[in-house]
Order: sequence, then structure tokens, then C-alpha cells
Amino acid sequence: MNRRIITIDGPAGAGKTTVSKALARELGCVYVDTGALYRAVAYEIRRREINWEDSALLDPFLDGLDLDFVMAGKEPVVTSSGQDISAYIRTHEISMLASATSAVPNVRKALLGIQKSIAQERDAVFEGRDMGTAVFPNALYKFFLTADVKVRARRRFEESNASGISFEKILEDMAKRDADDTRRTVSPLQQAPDAILIDATELDVSQVVEKMKSAIKAI
Ligand code: C5P
Repeated sequence: MNRRIITIDGPAGAGKTTVSKALARELGCVYVDTGALYRAVAYEIRRREINWEDSALLDPFLDGLDLDFVMAGKEPVVTSSGQDISAYIRTHEISMLASATSAVPNVRKALLGIQKSIAQERDAVFEGRDMGTAVFPNALYKFFLTADVKVRARRRFEESNASGISFEKILEDMAKRDADDTRRTVSPLQQAPDAILIDATELDVSQVVEKMKSAIKAI
């Protein structure tokens, strides 16, 4: 059966998570945060102190990884060997390591199966960087959500003001993560030719969701 798949790609801090959750709720389908998978890989690399730049060490580590998405209430959370690790993967350090390790082709390959299998089981909104381009090129609806980098960094700073990281550092690292995600050779962050571009610089969440809903109705 063909599932209804909606993809939302875009740079860090554009509001993809909030918007994807709201859209999934409105459409009655699940929300899948694929960034959590890349963060989970980074978390396990850090925890097990894997030298990920050495493929002789990285590949067996990837083969032994046991990541999954498990429904917790209405939302799937990422698990590693059956443990819910979602509380540990949102740190600044893990964001930067996830961006670096996600450029490794075998890391991306290792995560493809999980993403595709959810799409076979459920209608879903998939949030990520390469959803509409590489993972689900045939998705029914595709969006590319972006916003001015200063606005994105300001939002991230306001969400994380307890972390002690300055606005300037968040801005600098966000720009670096975007540049690395965009320039990598495999599955770079880019707008699919058939994705609808939404610039959220001057829009709030409900306005973005409304735009998406009317685009979906119009397609
Ligand atoms: O979306 P989030 O910021 O949690 O993603 C963390 C990192 O994981 C991104 O900076 C990106 O490098 C990587 N990622 C990816 N492909 C995806 C989702 C995330 O490369 N589909």
C-alpha cells in the first residue's frame, strides 16, 4: 500500500520540528525526526569512544548498532539497544558531532533501512535534510523550510538559554553546520526541485502550518 509521505527539509533551527509535529497532528499521521537518528549515532560514537574517522573501526560499530523508533504516546522516540536515549542527544556537542559524522556515506547507508521501514508502516511527516531528495524522492508532498540564519540562531538561543552558550557561538556553529550539511558530497542539504519553498523568517509556526495545509489541498 502506498503511504502518504510528507517531507520537510531545511537548515538547523528553521522550526522544522515544531511545524512537522503540528502538521502531523493536523493530518492525523506520525511525525518522524530523522535528525534524531544521526544524533543517536553521534551519541553512541561519543559514549563508546569510537574513532569514527577510521572506517575499520566505524563499520563494525555501525553493523552492531541497534537503533529504532518506538512509539511513546503519540510520538516515536529513538532507542538504542532498547533504551530511550532521546534525553541525551540534544546537546550542542552532539549537534556538531552528528553533522560531522552524517557526512560519512556508510553512516547514511546504515540509517536508510529504518527510515524506509517506518514509511511502509505508517502515513508520516518526515523531517530532515535529505528526505525529499534522497530518502523519499517520490513523496506526495515536499517542503523546504528555511529562515534567515540570524533569526534561526536567535530562536535556538532563546530555547537554550540555560546552556550558557552565547548567541554569537550558536550563530557561528549554526552557520558552520549549515555550510557542512550543504557542501557534503552525499545527500547534501538542498531543496528538491519539486519541493515547495517556505521562508519562515517573518512567519510564526501557525502561519507556516497554514501555508503547508493550503499547499497540500491545492496539489
Ligand atoms: O535535525 P537535526 O538538527 O537534529 O539534525 C542533526 C544533524 O544530523 C544535522 O546537522 C545533519 O548534519 C544531520 N542530518 C542529516 N540528514 C537528516 C537529518 C539530520 O544529515 N535527514
